[in-house]
Amino acid sequence: MKLMIMGPPGAGKGTQAKHLVEEFGIAHLSTGDILRSEVANGTELGETAKSYMDKGALVPDDVMNAMIGEHVLKHRSDGFLLDGYPRTLDQASCIDGFFSDKEIRLDGVLNIKVDDGLLVDRIVNRISCGNKGCGAVYNSKSRPPAKEGVCDECGAALKSRSDDDAEKLKTRLENYREKTEPVVGHYRSKGLLHEVSGEGAIDAVWEALRAEVQKF
Ligand code: AMP
Repeated sequence: MKLMIMGPPGAGKGTQAKHLVEEFGIAHLSTGDILRSEVANGTELGETAKSYMDKGALVPDDVMNAMIGEHVLKHRSDGFLLDGYPRTLDQASCIDGFFSDKEIRLDGVLNIKVDDGLLVDRIVNRISCGNKGCGAVYNSKSRPPAKEGVCDECGAALKSRSDDDAEKLKTRLENYREKTEPVVGHYRSKGLLHEVSGEGAIDAVWEALRAEVQKF
C-alpha cells in the first residue's frame, strides 16, 4: 500500500497516520518528523530547515525535493504513508515524476478536512509524547493525559511543539491555504483523492479513513 495523507495543521493527521501505518503495516514517512530529527541531530539539513521551521514557514522546495527520494525508495517494497509532503505544487510535480521514473504506483491520497476555528483550538492546546517511537498526541483541554506532562501510553515526558503557538500557527494556516490546498486539487483532478471530515471524535475519523482505504 502506497498512500499520502493531507490536511491542514491540527487536522489530526499525526494521530490518524499512526493508526494507518499500524493497520496496514506500512512505513510512516513524515517529513516534519524527519526534519525534527535532523534538527535534533544537528545535521546540515537540520540547520537549514530549523530557520524556516522556527517561523512556521515552509522549507524551500529544492531542499525537500532533494531529501524525499531516498526515504521513499527505502520503503518501495513494504509500502509507505507520505505525511506532510508534497505541500506545494512544485513538490507534487517532483514526486509525481519520481514515482513515474521509478514505476511506483500511488494507491491514493487521503485528505482530512477541518474548519479553521477548530484547528486553532486543537493546535494551541496540543501536547505530544517526546518519545519518537510513541508520538501519542493529547489536547491539554479536551483530551488531557491521566497524569499531567506524562504520556499514558509509554510514560515518557510530554511536550508542546515549538511551532504550535498562535502566531506561527497563523503563518502555517496561510501557507496551507495558499500553497497546499492547490495540491489537494491536483490529486482530485488525477482521480486519486479520498476525503473525510476530521471534525468528529478520533475513532470516528479513523473508521471513516479505514473505510476509504478499503475501497482502494
Ligand atoms: P509538520 O510536522 O508536517 O507540520 O512539519 C513541521 C514543519 O516542517 C513545517 O511547518 C515546515 O516548516 C517543515 N516541513 C515539513 N514538511 C515540509 C514540506 N513538505 N515542505 C516544506 N516544509 C516542510
